[in-house]
Amino acid sequence: MTLWPRLTGVKVLFAHDTEVALAAAAALVNTADGDDELLPDVAALDDFVRTWGWTGELRRDEAELRAVRELRPRLRQVWAATEERVVEIVNELLSEANALPQLVRHDTWDYHLHATPPDAPLATRMAVEAAMALVDVVRGKELGRLRTCDFAGCDNVVVDLSKNRSKRYCDGGCGNRAAVAAYRARKAAQA
Ligand SMILES: [Zn+2]
Ligand SMILES: [Zn+2]
Repeated sequence: MTLWPRLTGVKVLFAHDTEVALAAAAALVNTADGDDELLPDVAALDDFVRTWGWTGELRRDEAELRAVRELRPRLRQVWAATEERVVEIVNELLSEANALPQLVRHDTWDYHLHATPPDAPLATRMAVEAAMALVDVVRGKELGRLRTCDFAGCDNVVVDLSKNRSKRYCDGGCGNRAAVAAYRARKAAQA
């Protein structure tokens, strides 16, 4: 955080890389969608990695896929945990990976933190990136922005980065589903 936003009274929520990392962590958690496995194979993981712009080495094998899947329940816990528990999880993830924060600049990204080398296993890089972002959330007392989707029957996780904390639905289309349901309810009431 620079002095600039404070001087101008503009509240910057998180650094851009933190916001992207939080969104990516939520998207990863949401690939375990009840009985639906949205990372069924290596090709699906490949797609996910490309969509979220992960850099670094990929092994593209079953072991890598399994490790990424196994990370999801650990990250999901963060969305329902007390601050104390989140801190435990974050510290575990960082120490298991021997995380060592370094400022790096690559591709189109200006300086940001990496705390794992690019040849660390993908699941380790994902875990540490999420943990580093969560460090910012905890320090900013913003854990309230990690919630589950309000739509009935959906338990996807949500990262609310909106100014007025108004995000209620996940990015899986529940906002539209809720709007349609509300519309139908109004129609039914009129009939
Ligand atoms: Zn990077
Ligand atoms: Zn949802």
